[in-house]
Amino acid sequence: MNNKYSDNDYISCIPHEQYVRDSQQYGLCTECKKPNTWINWCMECYSKKFRQNFCNWTSGNEHIDKFIQESQLNANCDYELLEWIPYDRLSDITFLAKGGFGVIYEAIWLDGRIINWDTEKQDWKRKDTNIYQNENLKSNRKNGFWVILKSLNNSLNINEDFLNEWKLHLRCQRRAWSNYTSLIPLLGITQDPDTKNYMVVMINAFDGSLRNNLLIKKYNPNDKFRNLWDISRQLKAIHSLNLVHGDFHNGNLLYFTDNVLMISDLGLCRLVNNPNKNNEIYGVLPYIAPEVLRGKPYTKAADIYSFGIIMWEMTSGVPAFCDIPHDFNLCLNICMGDRPKIIEGTMPEYVELMKRCWDNDPKKRPTADELSEIFDEWDKKYPMEKDEEKRIPVPDNAPEIKYHLKAYYTSKRFTRSVELNKILSSEKIVILNDNNEDELNECMIEI
Ligand SMILES: [Zn+2]
Repeated sequence: MNNKYSDNDYISCIPHEQYVRDSQQYGLCTECKKPNTWINWCMECYSKKFRQNFCNWTSGNEHIDKFIQESQLNANCDYELLEWIPYDRLSDITFLAKGGFGVIYEAIWLDGRIINWDTEKQDWKRKDTNIYQNENLKSNRKNGFWVILKSLNNSLNINEDFLNEWKLHLRCQRRAWSNYTSLIPLLGITQDPDTKNYMVVMINAFDGSLRNNLLIKKYNPNDKFRNLWDISRQLKAIHSLNLVHGDFHNGNLLYFTDNVLMISDLGLCRLVNNPNKNNEIYGVLPYIAPEVLRGKPYTKAADIYSFGIIMWEMTSGVPAFCDIPHDFNLCLNICMGDRPKIIEGTMPEYVELMKRCWDNDPKKRPTADELSEIFDEWDKKYPMEKDEEKRIPVPDNAPEIKYHLKAYYTSKRFTRSVELNKILSSEKIVILNDNNEDELNECMIEI
């Protein structure tokens, strides 16, 4: 896995404690002689270069043009930058998956991402050499940059709403970066000329989602401290902007490499206490906090509940509640305090923290800030094994994760809060009749 990136790729230089974000750190700009805002990056000089180029491209949509332009004028470093990426500069476009909110493709961006200005060539220097062969690659390209394209349903009717997710993503990305961590970086926007659908271009997370990597976490238990430290700091960045993620689950957490876990998919990200459109409840059932199921406003503490479920999955190696139906009965049980069964041998302090995260009472849950401090400490105490040779592979005979046919892991709509509250507030709990299948199953609805 380590050979996918050369040492000078920017992710490998994600700063750690020793990197103080002080402009002195990055030396002086060779053009204006003022301190650089990042390694080989001068915001002032570069924004002028971007502005001069505004007349040479357009997305065909004024909102998108403005969004990209603003990112270019305000980029403190290469990865706060978005570009308009013409569709014909993308090749080997391959369908990957259909999520709750859109379709995802993998592709190669032929030009690669800007890393800085090449004064000799008087042009942008780009990172375009991370091509490695994979089974989807039809051509023999040596140069290019692997990306993910995400098309949103109905992006034909483009408006401010469509861009909202990406604006929030970029804001959170910038805030996370200033906390020395990173959400999955956005690179730009493109448009399929046939469907006219706009698609967002992101860095390709080669190692997949946490869901696909849970077993390796089980066999390498020290991984979880670093991984949870990463995502707690990212969550802290989101919460510090008074935003909530709103759909925090193992499919939305992506491994850039096996030791860098990043939050993606801010499709449900919004201001604290702000309802979704039409006041509807969305999510993946095992990660939705009981108070949210009961129709209460979504708060930061609801994200922390999901975090607690993720903590459990890091110890079990399986998605929470994967072997039972995600039905109304499960909603009731969650509201009455049912949680995944603690895995034997889990560190007692870890169990205690996890239980606080998934407490029925949102006020008793820790903040993302507190979580990041604790995991920072635990990551130092129990460092993850980075030497590939010493890491423990998932054994060939490891049991496969068995999913119940009615366990759903894409975001869906939950519609039965009123009924749930009625039952929970009645004196005697109604024992749901297993024979009434329809009644039980109609709980999460396709978006
Ligand atoms: Zn300068």
